[in-house]
Amino acid sequence: MRKLLLILAVSIIPLLVYCWGFYGHKSINRVAVYTLPSELAGFYKQHIEYVTSHAVDPDMRRYAVKEEAPRHYIDIDHYGENPFENVPRKWDEAVEKFTEDTLQSYGIVPWHIERMYFRLVSAFRKKDIPYILKTSADIGHYIADAHVPLHTTENYNGQLTNQKGIHGFWESRLPELYAEDYDFFVGKAHKIDDPLNFIWDEVQKSNAAVDSVLHFERDLTADYPSDRKYAYEEKGATMMKTYSRDFSQEYHLMLDGMVERRMRSAIIAVGSFWYSAWVEAGQPDLNTPLTAEQVLQLEQDKKELEAQYNGNKILGREHED
Ligand SMILES: [Zn+2]
Repeated sequence: MRKLLLILAVSIIPLLVYCWGFYGHKSINRVAVYTLPSELAGFYKQHIEYVTSHAVDPDMRRYAVKEEAPRHYIDIDHYGENPFENVPRKWDEAVEKFTEDTLQSYGIVPWHIERMYFRLVSAFRKKDIPYILKTSADIGHYIADAHVPLHTTENYNGQLTNQKGIHGFWESRLPELYAEDYDFFVGKAHKIDDPLNFIWDEVQKSNAAVDSVLHFERDLTADYPSDRKYAYEEKGATMMKTYSRDFSQEYHLMLDGMVERRMRSAIIAVGSFWYSAWVEAGQPDLNTPLTAEQVLQLEQDKKELEAQYNGNKILGREHED
């Protein structure tokens, strides 16, 4: 028994820290490439492995950079009864009203996406291909996070309502079990005229779903004894405690396509942000291959990030703790 407990204690940790899970983030960035109009699709297809595998870099960076954590969420319900009226959408006005410290404490995801968007426009203008790739992979991650209901609430892991674990359940376990059957033909990316308002609208939609995410799980839990709600599954060499297949399936049915809808919206949003940045930069021709030096630099950056990730404890708030 003691041995089993030890294994669980060790093995449950890695599951706890990722948004959308590795699988979800990589799928969103990858499929977003196929939403692009043909003028830009060629460039991203050429680099599809990069934007896919680096879709999780921002999560890995949370092990190295203290400021990273709040870029992934916004606890909007901290700001009172009508938070979307209360919080100015523009960064400067929000800082003016609440101070930057407060904004950082409760998360800055919509504003960080806007900042990344400007960076991407500038990278396109300079035709700086390594920087375009890095920023594209990163902004895809943050946009995907903004589409997750539990990234918009203080009760982000059900910790305030005795539903601890629901964060990873919704955004990692469910997509891993069911995304294979999701319809990812989401249509074509389009030009976004107002990136900040666009992403705020998505945050608002995510937040509107929080009640269902929590309520359904609570209702279903009332019908499930704990030994049926949870199960142990093998992950690699270890056994993991996780939500049982039966419980997952019923919950997924109750959500009535919500995970799929949020994932589809995330995909089209990612493609549209990439495309819009390129259009805003004047549609530069990107037909130059990476130089040997640039390839080397990208590999170097990857190694550094992995070393920090492997050697460190997460800094700032975990998505689940
Ligand atoms: Zn994240």
